[in-house]
Amino acid sequence: MKKFFYRCTQCGQEYEISPEIMLCPVCAAEQKPDEPLRGVLQVVAEGKTPDPRNIYEFLPVEKEFFPDMPVGSTPLWRPKNLRKILGFPNLFLKDDTANPTGSLKDRASFLVAAFAKKFGIKKIVVASTGNAGSSMAGVGACAGLEVILFVPKTAPRAKLVQALQYGAKLMPVDGNYDLAFDLSLQYSKKHGGLNRNTAYNPMTIEGKKTVAIEIFNQIGGIPDYVFVPVGDGVILAGTYRGFEDLQKFGLAKKIPTIYAVQSEGSCAVCRALATGNFDRPIPSKTIADSISVDIPRNGYYAVELLRRHNGKCITVSDEEILRAQKILSETTGLFAEPAGATSLAGFIKVKDQIPADATVVLLITGTGLKDIDSATKILEFPDGAIKSV
Ligand SMILES: *Cc1c(COP(=O)(O)O)cnc(C)c1O
Repeated sequence: MKKFFYRCTQCGQEYEISPEIMLCPVCAAEQKPDEPLRGVLQVVAEGKTPDPRNIYEFLPVEKEFFPDMPVGSTPLWRPKNLRKILGFPNLFLKDDTANPTGSLKDRASFLVAAFAKKFGIKKIVVASTGNAGSSMAGVGACAGLEVILFVPKTAPRAKLVQALQYGAKLMPVDGNYDLAFDLSLQYSKKHGGLNRNTAYNPMTIEGKKTVAIEIFNQIGGIPDYVFVPVGDGVILAGTYRGFEDLQKFGLAKKIPTIYAVQSEGSCAVCRALATGNFDRPIPSKTIADSISVDIPRNGYYAVELLRRHNGKCITVSDEEILRAQKILSETTGLFAEPAGATSLAGFIKVKDQIPADATVVLLITGTGLKDIDSATKILEFPDGAIKSV
């Protein structure tokens, strides 16, 4: 039998897993405004070594509670043209655009939905810049859950349409993600429901670890480098968690070198890794809406993991992101949203520092069809219409 419990990522205090607890109450009591969440909880697994081919053995909710939906098991591409152009014969793309709602967020929503089912919870409340919300809406629809979604009213329209299409209740806010986050917490405290806010709900980090276990299975080992787009730092932490579990249970010997890639206009994690603290937030400004955050909610834990595992943090400009997005599409046929192509932008930037025979995996985290306006910025539409050929 496997045992799962929570451990505070700051003070180490352990707690039983239950919907009553989201953050370590001791550390959360020290929360100051304008800083990442204090008292983020990680899930710890103990007991029999899990079978890496059976992802459910790594997760703290039993298989029977998961919605009937093909989340995860996404393809690993061996992009021939891109390998040749960049000179990396062992480059891989982990294509998480192939998830049911088009982003890696489905991995978290999937576990959150299972968790809600297990504890008899019928309503989920979530704040999102777009993808977490549309993901929770879609996975929640499949699981038969009511989803209340707080979003900046400026979120890409496709993501809002998606959420409405799945039947979620939309609560647009006149402000950024940080305001949506605060209002959603107020709402769930007042009106009940399980809050799925990223980092705040420990299942969001835990659910995303499946991406690392799949990479391990698909490559047949641990890659040398993984490039991860970073906003709140939850995908980053989830990826580390998966590799940590593989190592802890003796299935793998090492943890890959992870490059956290941020947009220059939204790079609080990189700043904190360099300076050691999250000083006052700088308003974020980037075309990559999914990684545009002023206060990275999982900032403390993300930086701690980068330190512990010798990870790196780099920034790329919007221009580099858009160019990477275009190169990816033109050489592979994979259309990612700007945040989803940020991993490639980061890799292109630092590839000269990486041995050419290294095994490198880029996480492609969301589909381009969610945000066609951004991609359009560097495209040229032909004028008028042709009369004859
Ligand atoms: C959410 C998201 C990210 C960033 O994940 P964080 O956990 O916020 O760091 C990157 N890409 C896409 C497409 C996303 O939806």
